[in-house]
Amino acid sequence: MLKGKTAIVTGSTSGIGLGIARALGEAGANLVLNGFGDADQIEKLRSGLAAEFGIRVDYNAADMSRPEQIHAMIASAQEQLGAVDILVNNAGIQHTSPIETFPAERWDAILAINLSSAFHAIQAALPGMRASNWGRIINIASVHGLVASVDKSAYVAAKHGILGLTKAVALETAKTGITCNAVCPGWVLTPLVQKQIDARAERDGQTIEQARSALLGEKQPSGDFATPEEIGAVCVFLCSSAAAQMRGAALPVDGGWLAQ
Ligand code: NAD
Repeated sequence: MLKGKTAIVTGSTSGIGLGIARALGEAGANLVLNGFGDADQIEKLRSGLAAEFGIRVDYNAADMSRPEQIHAMIASAQEQLGAVDILVNNAGIQHTSPIETFPAERWDAILAINLSSAFHAIQAALPGMRASNWGRIINIASVHGLVASVDKSAYVAAKHGILGLTKAVALETAKTGITCNAVCPGWVLTPLVQKQIDARAERDGQTIEQARSALLGEKQPSGDFATPEEIGAVCVFLCSSAAAQMRGAALPVDGGWLAQ
């Protein structure tokens, strides 16, 4: 379905971003991977995806907190792969702390990576999408784009912000073949969440298994994690023609978190 299209997925060396990259690659899109990690492992990932799906896969190490590196990554993808048709703004970090003791430096980093990076990437990619009158911009927000939790002030602010950005871009592109939507996952078991489970186990004197069940039980009625594969499948759907008139939407994949 996506053969001949090129997709950039930011933060795709791990977790949800990797799930999205795999799903888009399986649907035939050429890929630009981005994110941090061990160089050998990233190269294995890159060549593995290329071989498995018979697509071209590049890797760009842009730090998503650096606007000039984001612009350079988009320009390089346009030059090397011909276009950026699909942009998935997924890179994100977390830090938890009561607001009184929340380090200002963590606030700045979360706002830069979880929110401002999407602004810069969209600004850089949109002219190319307008030229071909086709594009898909998908912002990976969170249930925390719509509701809050304690000790996550920066994350909640950034995720609420990205839903606002999603709507604004959807309106500015409404009369074109470019759509902009957001996906709002609940708990997905990735390294970002495993850190929170580990911290919880230590704080409450629980096993990892107990801490995992407690974390899910508090917020996610299904009692199950959503998976990176499921988030990837939603992104493939958003790239399909069936989703051509979905604009500015925030799609929950949250085991019922937001239904409460
Ligand atoms: P993860 O830690 O597994 O992956 C994050 C990815 O972002 C990695 O590839 C990492 O290298 C990359 N990254 C981090 N900082 C970067 C930077 N400065 N520049 C470039 N890349 C950078 O986390 P995840 O759980 O897969 O999270 C992915 C996205 O999904 C985030 O935006 C997160 O907020 C969102 N999300 C996650 C969950 C969840 O339960 N895991 C729920 C809702 C939303």
